[in-house]
Amino acid sequence: MRIPLFVGNWKMHMTRAEAEELLISLKEKAGNVEGIDVGVCPSFPYLSFATELLVGTNIKVGGQNMAWENSGAFTGEVSPVQLRDSGCSFVILGHSERRHVFGETNEMINKKVKRAVEQGLNVILCVGEKLNEREQGRTEDIVNSQLQAGLKGVDISMIDKITIAYEPVWAIGTGKTATPEMAEDVHAFIRNWFKTEFGKSAADELRIQYGGSVKPENSSQLMAQPDIDGALVGGASLDAESFTQIIFSAAENKQE
Ligand code: PEP
Repeated sequence: MRIPLFVGNWKMHMTRAEAEELLISLKEKAGNVEGIDVGVCPSFPYLSFATELLVGTNIKVGGQNMAWENSGAFTGEVSPVQLRDSGCSFVILGHSERRHVFGETNEMINKKVKRAVEQGLNVILCVGEKLNEREQGRTEDIVNSQLQAGLKGVDISMIDKITIAYEPVWAIGTGKTATPEMAEDVHAFIRNWFKTEFGKSAADELRIQYGGSVKPENSSQLMAQPDIDGALVGGASLDAESFTQIIFSAAENKQE
């Protein structure tokens, strides 16, 4: 059975004092939940701080992005080695804001995925279509090409390091959520894609998170879908109570 995974993507929010308050509250409410994996992705300057604060809990710390090289002349970038050194066990790659605001291509994301895995980081690879692409009926084509290109050269021995987050771009930070059925259709497509590329057991074990305006009010219905294995949460993860309610929505639906 797949363990649901809930990750809070803090984006470029939170001062150190705000981060401290949020983490202490999260630690109290969801520090040692059984049968559910939880992670947070603060901004780079607070990664070590978060790691230290979360010692003794099951909450993992991850990066929101990284460079595809381990070190070198890359002003403004952070490497996978530095993420590991700051206590991260995973990294989000290919987030739609990286793709569409910062112009990251599938090729760049692919280099990052391979480097992250080589350095022992788990990867959350984000895929998802824009509104016009959905309206043109191209959702599966877009997701297919993001998976093909993003995972090029990743072989079966690395596949247990990969989680996919399906995040329709039109639903991120907009308050618009895909209906549970719309999300489930794409999740089932992704699982089937993995079955074709990597075999049934890799597909069965793959965790596919949904992301896009997930809130306590909609998380239960989303988590009730068979191929939704948790969530990548932006806005609602900045509030410990909301994020905890989202995490516990999986308890109702995913645990025995
Ligand atoms: C995200 O940042 O990945 C995200 C899904 O944001 P939000 O929950 O705010 O839509």
